[in-house]
Amino acid sequence: MIPYGRQDISQLDIDAVVEVLQSDFLTQGPVVPAFEQRVACHVGAEHALAVNSATSALHIACLALGLAEGDYLWTSPITFVASANCGLYCGAQVDFVDIDPHTYNLCPVALEQKLQKAEQSGTLPKVLVAVHLCGQSCDMQAISTLAKRYGVSVIEDASHAIGGKYRGEFIGSCRYSDITVFSFHPVKIITTAEGGMALTNNAELAAKMQLLRSHGITRDPEQMTHVADGPWYYQQIDLGFNYRMTELQAALGVSQLQRLDQFVARRHELAARYDQLLSTLPLTTPWQHPDSYSGLHLYVVRLNTQQIGKSHREVFESLREQGIGVNLHYIPVHTQPYYQRMGFQYGDFPEAERYYREAISLPMFHTMSEEQQAQVVAALQGALAS
Ligand SMILES: *Cc1c(COP(=O)(O)O)cnc(C)c1O
Repeated sequence: MIPYGRQDISQLDIDAVVEVLQSDFLTQGPVVPAFEQRVACHVGAEHALAVNSATSALHIACLALGLAEGDYLWTSPITFVASANCGLYCGAQVDFVDIDPHTYNLCPVALEQKLQKAEQSGTLPKVLVAVHLCGQSCDMQAISTLAKRYGVSVIEDASHAIGGKYRGEFIGSCRYSDITVFSFHPVKIITTAEGGMALTNNAELAAKMQLLRSHGITRDPEQMTHVADGPWYYQQIDLGFNYRMTELQAALGVSQLQRLDQFVARRHELAARYDQLLSTLPLTTPWQHPDSYSGLHLYVVRLNTQQIGKSHREVFESLREQGIGVNLHYIPVHTQPYYQRMGFQYGDFPEAERYYREAISLPMFHTMSEEQQAQVVAALQGALAS
């Protein structure tokens, strides 16, 4: 089976992890801060907090922004459930904004309409999670303008997007948001096995997230309520978690980061070949906004189902039967049973639901060969022929 995504681990990556195993620190040593500093420097953000997953990063980002019971968090229905669940962890309510039919990202026009209504009914969201689907940035300029006008904080869920750019700057610079989150799960662009990071230019948010990632405990005399009892002393001043990244993970991250540009460039080569090889088939290849240089975590095609004698499901199953590990990103979150129990219904977000009936993620990863790509294309041709 050709997988839809796969990590690429080099001997240098392995050596970096082994070196940490033989060192004094397996956790809470010097490598995590080094990894944070390198990512922050690469993307142009002031502060970076490494954590054990992007899900954890989203959680502490929401808490740092003050999200709590009685508040709303809005996001796109076409995302991994974690982008929405982080709101529920804080006791807030979640709602969605339908997608743009070209980029499949949260639509700024739909956002503006929903904000106008929410202002009238006194239900404006506290936090908006903008998901850069497949690695392509959302229209952050429009989103940031609206967010400022309505007093909404913005988190960029850039789990798909490290290495990508928006208007000439790396995604993660937080120019248009309060906090940006990356994921380092093995299917993503670079990996630390499990892992994530929250970036911000706001020192207060960074300090808050730093506390929350490690039990709410501080050793900083400035943050304590009174003078330390002695050199052993620390204080718990908030309720935090153990969301720390290990030194092993950070060492893998530092090593992988060195090949980030190469990884993204290879994904662009593969995408350009797909665009060409698929151009005559009855499907829509990914549209790229001219302001955006995508990280290209995913290559999603949409079937022009009216022109095909088979259903979306039949095409999908045929590909899997032919050894092509296609996938579907994502099932609209509002149609998940857990969310349906909150009152969401089919029909609530029609563009997202239409996307779900047509989308297929084709295999794309750094080590994918051109023969493998030809195999995917041939299988797709076969699957579409009626
Ligand atoms: C993968 C992913 C996450 C969660 O990342 P983890 O590091 O696995 O917690 C969140 N949001 C999106 C859009 C993702 O793709």
